[in-house]
Amino acid sequence: MIRENTQPQSYKTWFEPIKPLAYDGETLTIQVPSQFFFEYLESHYVDLLKLAISKTIGPSGKLQYSIVMDNSDIEHPYGINVPTTDKSNTKNPSVRVPLDLDSNDEKKVLNPFVVPGIKKINVESQLNENYSFDNFIEGECNRTARIAGLAVAKNPGTTAFNPLFVFSPTGLGKTHLCHAIGLETKKYHPNLIVLYVNAEQFIQQFMASCKNKTRDDFVRFYQMIDVLIIDDIQFFAGKSKTQDTLFHIFNHLQQNKKQLIFTCDKPASELEDMEQRLISRFQWGLSTELQIPDIETRSNILKRKAYSDGIEIPDDVIDYVASKVKTNVREMEGLFISLMAQSSFNKKAITIDMARQLIDRFVRNTTQEVSIDYIISAVIDRLNITLENFQSKSKKHDIVLARQLAMYFSKKYTDYSLSAIGKKCGNKDHSTVIYAIQTIENLIDTDKQIRALASDIEKNIC
Ligand code: ADP
Ligand code: MG
Repeated sequence: MIRENTQPQSYKTWFEPIKPLAYDGETLTIQVPSQFFFEYLESHYVDLLKLAISKTIGPSGKLQYSIVMDNSDIEHPYGINVPTTDKSNTKNPSVRVPLDLDSNDEKKVLNPFVVPGIKKINVESQLNENYSFDNFIEGECNRTARIAGLAVAKNPGTTAFNPLFVFSPTGLGKTHLCHAIGLETKKYHPNLIVLYVNAEQFIQQFMASCKNKTRDDFVRFYQMIDVLIIDDIQFFAGKSKTQDTLFHIFNHLQQNKKQLIFTCDKPASELEDMEQRLISRFQWGLSTELQIPDIETRSNILKRKAYSDGIEIPDDVIDYVASKVKTNVREMEGLFISLMAQSSFNKKAITIDMARQLIDRFVRNTTQEVSIDYIISAVIDRLNITLENFQSKSKKHDIVLARQLAMYFSKKYTDYSLSAIGKKCGNKDHSTVIYAIQTIENLIDTDKQIRALASDIEKNIC
């Protein structure tokens, strides 16, 4: 399943070297060659791993890594986890996926972050220590956001920056900044309850609370927070009940001088399918944009990364990579990681030639960020169908094919999750997307006409 959903090169690099060690009906233990390898899998393939584990083992399936280098086993439930080598965390990882609410819990306020069976109410901040201000490189591109973030961390709830609304396209540091603000706040105010949550997670928890009739507990839990950070609020679009609930939580926190921090992939005014009263609240405090870093900042980000990974990389290689990838920090880091991987696998020093070769291979995908909308328009133009039909419920052959092609290319050329892709392509769920990708892959292999059609569309996308 993983092979079918990754690029062959990535599969070869990151999945073929994995060795299965043990399986006890619930936990699959795999052996990976290094800590770096483990971190890479966790940060790039966590969604896919999660899906594969839950599809093949079932919802209670777990993945356990065994790292050969230092023999440390790192266990965590599938899903989010902060990579750590700290053994004390292995038995009881602090970050867990809120799979379900425990409706038998006797406490007054249910904590949606608590996994059933664990009784203690304890608000884990869900903060990633690796995303601190220390390694958030300052540049013209992020100066306002950074300063506002620091001010908020010192005086949460009482500055003019409430809410603090940070927006930018993907990969420019919103999530990193959120964690940094959260961590800094905890440094100054260890007693405040700080909580980082991704909007998708918030939505899932909200839906679970509706299902379990614990919506009031859900609201009360969030109203208890002193510094609430919600990342990627664009995911609230079209979710009117969640928006309504967020509105009440927002009002309560704001009135009680609690700090709110939101991030979004666009300015609040451009959000669609979002209640006007919520949009206007997002704009109450400070709205600030993270821009694309200039080349100097990009080099500094890479230098910092090499330094924290303990890897020596010549300055000319760093400058070369920074000069080639201009759109987005995540892409640039991706390339850089491939470089480190290649050098560690082949046991060769990193040189500018190695960087050049990798960039030649990857640069087409890295210099241009393609959006799902762009892909959809390329597909429907070629197939001569309207956007309205594309988004309709029609099961006509050419419309279904168009949706499947759009899903296939969106997976290939964007970073979006399967569910985000499905949503844009006729409001389908992630399993439909997986099925669509497989179908198109099969058709490309077996059907000359479809192969030609796909190649035409692909030329327009790249
Ligand atoms: P977003 O949430 O906007 O999509 P992220 O916060 O996930 O972006 O950032 C993508 C990657 O780029 C992360 O690994 C992050 O650490 C790194 N990054 C972005 N901006 C900076 C910066 N100013 N300094 C250091 N690293 C950065
Ligand atoms: Mg993010």
